[in-house]
Amino acid sequence: MGQVQGKVVLVTGAAAGIGAAIATTLGREGAKVVLTDLDDARGEDVAQSIRAAGGEALYLHQDVTEEARWAEVMGEIDRRFGRLDVLVANAGIAIIVPIIEMTLEQWRKQTAVNVDGVFLSAKHGIPLMRKSGPGKPSPGGSIVMISSVAGLRGSAGLAGYSATKGAVRLFAKSVALECAGARDNIRCNSIHPGIIGTEIWEKMPGERRNAPIDANAVAAATVPTGQLGTPQDVANAVLFLASDASSYINGSEIVVDAGLMAG
Ligand code: NAD
Repeated sequence: MGQVQGKVVLVTGAAAGIGAAIATTLGREGAKVVLTDLDDARGEDVAQSIRAAGGEALYLHQDVTEEARWAEVMGEIDRRFGRLDVLVANAGIAIIVPIIEMTLEQWRKQTAVNVDGVFLSAKHGIPLMRKSGPGKPSPGGSIVMISSVAGLRGSAGLAGYSATKGAVRLFAKSVALECAGARDNIRCNSIHPGIIGTEIWEKMPGERRNAPIDANAVAAATVPTGQLGTPQDVANAVLFLASDASSYINGSEIVVDAGLMAG
């Protein structure tokens, strides 16, 4: 019996990196996983690999910034499964530019994905999660929002990103308070990864340079162990928050950074 056996789970940004690891891990632990992303080819591949391993997975195209699509995705999940137990708001982008060089367009694009996308996930996910609340087979729902260590402190060169991830941290706590009552019984927590080896580092526009950022070098310079984290390290924490083992944890935050923030 898996740790999230039979739970219906939605993971955004599930075609790559941390989202793919979360979807794969929850699928392996018995969840029915709905994956969404912009990258359909890779998203379908991840869903297919979950099915090949004996799990249940459905991929849907979704831009998390588009509200109309959120309504459609929830409608599709409702039609297919009639419920939603776990929502993982993972999709995010990082734009590394000094403040005075950052265009308003870059600021808004990052905020649209990292903040608007997370807000819309809760706005459209909570009504469906309420259907699987008290009196139903599941003891309620769990929302997991992927923030960052950059949401816990400022970061030079990543000011806009830090602002969005700080917003996610407090939005998660507000959702936790608003949905903690008996009617909803929905928990909401945030996860704050440190330096994790994914393509997000290669996609960041370089600060006064064109080369992609070397995440290994960043980890060597900042993490006490010198080691880069893996998407699986984050997925393990999501699995805990998605499972009933964390049923008394609400409005909390888990830092997955090998001690980066401890000093
Ligand atoms: P990634 O770039 O490897 O994967 C992100 C995925 O999100 C991609 O598949 C991409 O297509 C998708 N995506 C981007 N914009 C989208 C949109 N508008 N709608 C739907 N999908 C979209 O990045 P990752 O490192 O796996 O990051 C996942 C989350 O973890 C992000 O929220 C990121 O901010 C956070 N995070 C990452 C790190 C790290 O070091 N990698 C550290 C802290 C937090």
